[in-house]
Amino acid sequence: MEFPNFVICGHCGTLNRSAIQMRGNYGNMLIADNFQGCNACGKMFALPAGIFSSAKAATLALAAVENPIEQIAALTAALKKISESEAPNSQSVQSALQASGLIQAEAVAATAPVSPRDKRIWAASLLAAISYAWESLPAGALSWMELFSKIHEAWGQ
Ligand SMILES: [Zn+2]
Repeated sequence: MEFPNFVICGHCGTLNRSAIQMRGNYGNMLIADNFQGCNACGKMFALPAGIFSSAKAATLALAAVENPIEQIAALTAALKKISESEAPNSQSVQSALQASGLIQAEAVAATAPVSPRDKRIWAASLLAAISYAWESLPAGALSWMELFSKIHEAWGQ
C-alpha cells in the first residue's frame, strides 16, 4: 500500500499534513482505525486508506493524457459538483466528468470508490490535491503534467 504524506478531512475537505509520516521501507503493514484532528474545522477524521488509493489512481489516469491547463477549471467544477451532491452514483460521477470535456473522463470515473459517501470524499480529495498543487507551482510554469507530477510528489512518489 502507499501511505500519503497529506490527508483530506472527510468533514470539510481541507488538506492536512498527515499525522503519520512514513519514511524508508515499509511493507505488509496494516494501518487502520487512525484518526487525526483537522487544522481547519477541528473535527476528528479517519485516515481512509482505500480512498487514498482510489484518489491516487484517478490522478494517475489524469496524468496519462496531456490536456490544456485551462481544462483544470472544468475538471475542478465537476469534482466540486460530485463532492457536493447528496448521493453521487457511478453514472452521475461519469456524466459530471464527461461534461467537463476531459478525454480521460471514463478512466477517472472508473477509479471512484463504491459508496456515495466515499465518492464524495474521493472528489473532495482530488479537489484538495489539485488546489494544493496549483498553489505550490511557480507562477508562469504551469502545465497539466507539472500539476500532476506535483500531486504525485505530495502523494509520496
Ligand atoms: Zn475539516
